[in-house]
Amino acid sequence: NRQITLASRPVGAPTRENFALKETAIPEPAEGQLLLRTLYLSLDPYMRGRMSDAKSYAEPVAVGDPMVGGTVSRVHASRHSGYQPGDWVLSYSGWQDYALSDGEGLIKLDPAHMSPSWALGVLGMPGFTAYMGLLDIGRPQAGETLVVAAATGAVGSMVAQIGKLKGCRVVAVAGGEEKCRYALETLGVDVCLDHKAGDFAEQLAGACPDGIDIYYENVGGKVLDAVLPLLNTGARIPVCGLISQYNATTLPDGPDRLGQLMATILIKRMTVKGFIIFDDYAHRYDEFVQDMNQWLREGKIHYREQIVEELEHAPEAFIGLLQGQNFGKLVVRVGND
Ligand code: NDP
Repeated sequence: NRQITLASRPVGAPTRENFALKETAIPEPAEGQLLLRTLYLSLDPYMRGRMSDAKSYAEPVAVGDPMVGGTVSRVHASRHSGYQPGDWVLSYSGWQDYALSDGEGLIKLDPAHMSPSWALGVLGMPGFTAYMGLLDIGRPQAGETLVVAAATGAVGSMVAQIGKLKGCRVVAVAGGEEKCRYALETLGVDVCLDHKAGDFAEQLAGACPDGIDIYYENVGGKVLDAVLPLLNTGARIPVCGLISQYNATTLPDGPDRLGQLMATILIKRMTVKGFIIFDDYAHRYDEFVQDMNQWLREGKIHYREQIVEELEHAPEAFIGLLQGQNFGKLVVRVGND
């Protein structure tokens, strides 16, 4: 049983040394338990928070413990009346080959109906995050301008496409030409800008002649700085993530923009609302699954995964995620059997 554990807490960007590969015996299920074999492991930005012991909405991973994470797993052995060997489940087994479960929190999956790994992306946590943040907090109206960064990623790609389905003019922001081409040609956004361009702020102003009605916040930093002066009266900002800050150890250079932010919130009467998807919206999961399945059936949503082979490669893939090296939803194929 291979496990990737947290070897030490990172200061700044995580490195390979913060992770360790451990070999342990495959555990035996006790009465009422099942043994799960991990097939796919989801890698997500929130895991950076779990590596840190700074106070947050969830407990950190203890040093020496396996890293946590959502998985698609198959029941390998069962002493639980509700599960048979061979059943597929959505689990939270973490970065390891095998995990024991008492069945709590597991969701059964039907691989005949979809690619199983999609339960970690378009039909799972990131898709749900995009759906609720945009529809419940962003409240898009036809003709409005929606700006979303990390627009080819797991969450952003869904925000962009749902925004188009609701009739918005979508201005995407992504890292590099290839991602921008994908956003334009496949996701169907109206404009895509590279946040690494030196004149990004000017480009964004040019791309939003009618201002910005919704800014779906995934990244913070320079993108937020460029968005701030363009926000319209009554603008909504679902605060979903701030990935550009996750590795920060100090405040960013430059002037303190807190005063400008508060003045904009006041003068523009904006709604700025943070949310943690399952804490706030678990009761609306079925609504999301129904809508998303329908959009997928109708060919209205495109989904891109980046599958990394082998558990051993999870640390470098995760480190890359925090630097924009992933292109699509990042998933590790841990096992086939
Ligand atoms: P992605 O698949 O979008 O991958 C992360 C992307 O972020 C990178 O590919 C990169 O895209 C972009 N990025 C990384 N570093 C920077 C940086 N310094 N500046 C600008 N962009 C950067 O990840 P997810 O879709 O899984 O997550 C997107 C956001 O949603 C994250 O902030 C995450 O924490 C948040 N989230 C929040 C949830 C909640 O409940 N509130 C639930 C799930 C996710 P590019 O190369 O295009 O810049």
